[in-house]
This record gives sequence, structure tokens and C-alpha cells, in this order.
Amino acid sequence: MKLTLTKSVPLFQDVTTFVFEPEEPIEWQPGQYMHYVFPHPDEDNRGEERWFTISAPPYEKNITITTRFTDEKGSSFKKALKNLKAGDTIQADGPKGKFIIDDFDKKYVLVSGGIGITPYHSMLLQFDHDGKMPDIELLYANRDENFVFGDEFAALEAKYPNFKIHKFVGDRHIEAEDLKPYADDQTKIIYLSGPEPMIEAFEKMLQDMGVPEDRLKTDFFPGYPAQL
Ligand SMILES: Cc1cc2nc3c(=O)[nH]c(=O)nc-3n(C[C@H](O)[C@H](O)[C@H](O)COP(=O)(O)OP(=O)(O)OC[C@H]3O[C@@H](n4cnc5c(N)ncnc54)[C@H](O)[C@@H]3O)c2cc1C
Repeated sequence: MKLTLTKSVPLFQDVTTFVFEPEEPIEWQPGQYMHYVFPHPDEDNRGEERWFTISAPPYEKNITITTRFTDEKGSSFKKALKNLKAGDTIQADGPKGKFIIDDFDKKYVLVSGGIGITPYHSMLLQFDHDGKMPDIELLYANRDENFVFGDEFAALEAKYPNFKIHKFVGDRHIEAEDLKPYADDQTKIIYLSGPEPMIEAFEKMLQDMGVPEDRLKTDFFPGYPAQL
């Protein structure tokens, strides 16, 4: 399907949300992603294909990509994305993915590294919109104080007693001891989202702590280093 860029919204110096209008209405579940094919000039060997979570909640109707740009070794795909102007188009298919919350009676621990926050943004805003917030603790690690969507989440934390945020900044990483209480609490379902090496490490930690598969859900972002 064809998506037309309506605007790009800088969130921080290195993070931007791109808002696209789909050529026909599209429905998705918060946490799902789209697959993009974007031929562009001077394409590098990382190619023309990418996957991005729809960072917006479904009630907003437009498809969004929220992504981080790196100065060093940035891909040609990202450069071309950054150069898109309102009215330009990109091809995408989807939505896809099972990184969703559909049982509102369960309790959730959402773990995020850096830009891995995008599926949770879609979920939390939709839950707020629907007036149906499940019991959620968000463990959010970021390389600095520029927490993407940090202000929106703080407003939700103030609004819902059953939504709590735990921030981890810079060298204060999320460690095994931070995850252990949730691993031990059989009532908690743990979601992991972030760069692939980080998610693999957390998944292994939690499995070693005895967390069974049905209490663990992962969504990894390949192509990013462990530290975001
Ligand atoms: C289901 C799914 C959902 C996703 N959702 C999102 C999302 O919401 N937001 C998001 O930003 N990303 C998301 N991603 C990841 C996304 O698809 C890209 O892989 C990621 O953004 C990195 O983009 P890029 O490869 O263009 O690299 P860039 O962002 O331009 O660069 C990132 C880093 O890649 C390193 N690198 C990796 N490979 C090479 C190479 N061959 N040569 C040189 N350097 C290299 C460099 O160190 C560089 O710093 C998702 C992935 C999946 C599978």
C-alpha cells in the first residue's frame, strides 16, 4: 500500500516521528509493525527494506515511524527517509506481528531499551483513549535523559495508579536484580522490546530465572547496537 508523508515531527535532535496517511483506511493492533520497501538513490548494502513498529495508537489512524538517526555509519535508507518531504510516498505492507496485549486482566511488565519504546507508546495511548489501562510497570532504559515519549508517559503515570514507570539512565542499565522480582512474581507477564543484543541478553537472564515461555514476549529491533 502507498503511504503519503503528511509531516515529520522531531522529538529530539536524533529522533523523529514520520506521519503517513495510508491510501485507504488501515486497522492495526497497538504493538504491530509495517514492512517498508523504499528504493532510494545511492543505496548501500543494507538495502531498501526495513521494518518499523507503528508508534501511533490505532485511533489516530495515520501510520507513524519513530526512529533514531545516527551520525556515524547511518544507512542510506535512513538518509532517504530523513529527506522525505510532505506529499512524498513510500510503499509498505502489513500490519504484522503478535507483540500485542489483549488480556486486560493480566499484569504486565514492559521492558524497553531506547527506541524499543515505540510499541509501548502505541499500546499505552490506545489504552488511555479506550479508558482501559491494565496493570503495567514500564522499565525504560535510555542512554541519556532524552526519554522518547517521556512526557506523555509521565502524564499517564499521574493519571493511572496502576501504571508505573521505572527509568534507567546511561550506565545504570537494567540488571538481573532489577528483573528478578518480576521473574519471581508468577502473576506478571514480561514484554521485552529493544535492540536485538539487549533483548537476547534479557531473555536469557529471565529464562535462567525460570520464567516460562508463556510469561515472556519479545520484540527485537535488529540493526541497532546494544546501547541505545
Ligand atoms: C519488528 C521490528 C520493528 C522495528 N521497529 C522499529 C522502530 O519502531 N523504530 C526504529 O528505529 N527501528 C525499528 N526497527 C529496526 C529497524 O528496522 C532498523 O533495523 C533500525 O532502525 C536500524 O536502521 P538502519 O539499518 O537503517 O541503521 P541506522 O539507524 O542508520 O544505523 C544504526 C547503527 O547500525 C550499525 N550498523 C548495522 N549494520 C551496519 C552495516 N552493515 N554497516 C555499518 N553500520 C552498521 C551502525 O553502528 C549504526 O550506528 C524494527 C525492527 C523490527 C524487525
